[in-house]
Amino acid sequence: NKQIIFKDYVGGVPPKESDMVLQTGTMTLKVPQGVKGVVVKNLYLSCDPYMRTRMRKLQGSYVESFTRGSPIVGFGVAKVLHSGDPNFKEGDLVWGMTGWEEYSLIITTTETLFKIEHTDVPLSYYTGLLGMPGITAYVGFYEIYDPKKGEKVFISAASGAVGQIVGQFAKLLGCYVVGSAGTKEKVDLLKNKFGFDEAFNYKEEKYLSVALKRYFPDGIDVYFENVGGVMLDAVLVNMRLRGRIAFCGLISQYNREKPEGIHNLNCLIAKRVRAEGFLVLDYYHRYPKFLDMVLPYIKQGKISYVEDIAEGLESAPAALVGLFSGRNVGKQNLTATMV
Ligand code: NDP
Repeated sequence: NKQIIFKDYVGGVPPKESDMVLQTGTMTLKVPQGVKGVVVKNLYLSCDPYMRTRMRKLQGSYVESFTRGSPIVGFGVAKVLHSGDPNFKEGDLVWGMTGWEEYSLIITTTETLFKIEHTDVPLSYYTGLLGMPGITAYVGFYEIYDPKKGEKVFISAASGAVGQIVGQFAKLLGCYVVGSAGTKEKVDLLKNKFGFDEAFNYKEEKYLSVALKRYFPDGIDVYFENVGGVMLDAVLVNMRLRGRIAFCGLISQYNREKPEGIHNLNCLIAKRVRAEGFLVLDYYHRYPKFLDMVLPYIKQGKISYVEDIAEGLESAPAALVGLFSGRNVGKQNLTATMV
């Protein structure tokens, strides 16, 4: 059983490939007697920014640190090989928390695990569009924002796993949508594939607040926050009166020892902006409702999804590290074995 082992905690520096190591172990492909769980063969494994947080030594966080010397854990798509849980049977396809390894024992009493009922879509989508990032986009956009047709929406890290979905939801609703991303290729995707009204490369802008003013001369109604830092500061001065901000993530801060200072918080008061943070883990009960909405969109070709699928566990450390330099184009995941 090939596994990617977490070596040691990473502090305020970017993670490196050498923080993880490939190892081969052995494993019985049966659920031990008396254990409620399933043994699975992993098919696709997901690389997500929150995993960086789990590489820290954490106390009192909403997630736990990875265990040193144990396989990295994360979302994935898998096939059940043996079941010790009446809710799952051999051959079932599932998505949820699994390990960065070829085979895993998943304890179903403690981990989120969903049976995959719809297989007429790419299975890898269950790490992205139909998995955790999809519900994140759905909750952040529809439940936190309460958006209205015609509103002006800005999304940072817009071509990524979550951002590309939020942008397409916003377009389907009839909003004016602008996204930022870190390369020309990503900006082109936003405009030509996902149908954003405008997009810009934030790395090429001298003053982000000036760039935002260019696309939102009358201000931003709703901002979907994925990055934080200087982008957040620039957004704050460009918010419209009674605008809303959904705080999804602050990826620009994850490798820092201390978060950057935000200078324009006064704008929240002056412009009566409502800002709300949310965690997708509070909303998994909305999954069936989310599927009912999104599956028809996929089948009617109204939503598309770009994935960056790395091959094999060997490529997992580079894929995870690459999220923090913007190497991924679309949702980063990987196949658990070489194809
Ligand atoms: P992405 O697929 O968007 O990958 C990360 C992207 O972030 C990179 O490709 C890069 O894109 C951008 N990025 C990396 N470093 C920086 C930086 N220093 N400054 C600006 N941009 C940077 O990730 P996801 O869509 O999976 O996640 C997006 C955000 O949503 C993250 O902050 C994540 O933590 C958060 N999240 C929150 C959840 C919740 O429950 N609240 C659940 C899921 C995700 P580029 O080339 O454009 O710079």
